[in-house]
Amino acid sequence: MQVTEKIKDYLTGVKKLGIGGHIRPDGDCVGAGLGLYAYVRKNFPEIEVRLYLQPIAEKFKFLKYSEEIVSAVDHNEVYDLFILLDSSDKDRLGEFEPYFDQAKRTICIDHHISNNKYASENIVYPTASSTSEVVYDMLEESLVDYDTACALYLGIVHDSGAFKYSNTSAHTMNVAGRLMEMGIPFTQIIDNTFYSKTYVQNQVLGRALLESILFFNGKCIFSVIKRDIMEFYNITSKDLDGVVEQLRITKGVECAIFLYEVAELEYKVSLRSNEIVDVSRIATYFGGGGHIRAAGFNMKGNMYDVINNISQQIEKQLG
Ligand code: 5GP
Ligand code: MN
Repeated sequence: MQVTEKIKDYLTGVKKLGIGGHIRPDGDCVGAGLGLYAYVRKNFPEIEVRLYLQPIAEKFKFLKYSEEIVSAVDHNEVYDLFILLDSSDKDRLGEFEPYFDQAKRTICIDHHISNNKYASENIVYPTASSTSEVVYDMLEESLVDYDTACALYLGIVHDSGAFKYSNTSAHTMNVAGRLMEMGIPFTQIIDNTFYSKTYVQNQVLGRALLESILFFNGKCIFSVIKRDIMEFYNITSKDLDGVVEQLRITKGVECAIFLYEVAELEYKVSLRSNEIVDVSRIATYFGGGGHIRAAGFNMKGNMYDVINNISQQIEKQLG
């Protein structure tokens, strides 16, 4: 599906622009946000623009303008336009939701099949690899510079698993190719932000794999990291990137479940599947969202309740 909307058409008459992304911003959210922010800063200097995101991972801070990201609700601004990126629900905006609610006009740019079209205009392309790919398609190609290219490339790399997930298309590769032509350090972007892990991250990954459990005849796998473990290793949710992905590629597995404890009797759930299970449907059922092969949500209860509830839904689909 070709993206037909152009960002410049939405910026006419806009003096104050707010941009936001989802809570615990991932690579795609940061890449799309900083890519669009850099583009507006350079090509529309008359527009006052702010980018709101919760604190981003250290590894993303090489991106231009990352130090200009606003991570606190700092004033009562009414924006002419507020663009919410990579968020299937409005409440994914977290503490910045009032800026969206008060804005004169709102747009959502996204690629989640579960998007519930909450903005006044919804630019949602579920077949796109990433929100960064959709953002690229909305820009004037000749005005995309090095800084925007680095950010959007990073976003595409993260959501496509470095161009290997099933959401990667020939168009994704064409966009990546055009971004590479800007002379961006693509090897470093992939290694330093996607594959590289700290020693502690590797230890926790190892622990999650060691303690993982296969069920449904080896078709499903799950693992959990409790709060005491997170405290022991002094890690946050950002350090758990990649765990569910490693579980997913376990031979014979169709569906992988990874949980980490966010509060007493509350878990963040990540789901991945390979060919059969529509995990977006399961996540939406439990109040979250995502894509057919990658989705997530929060669930209250003890670990066994959570796993039982999810397995019932998986079983329905596996038959
Ligand atoms: P992850 O498992 O990596 O946290 O997320 C996988 C996909 O599911 C991402 O595209 C993410 O945006 C979506 N997702 C994860 N958690 C939630 C959630 O709580 N609500 C919604 N709506 N989507 C989520
Ligand atoms: Mn995304």
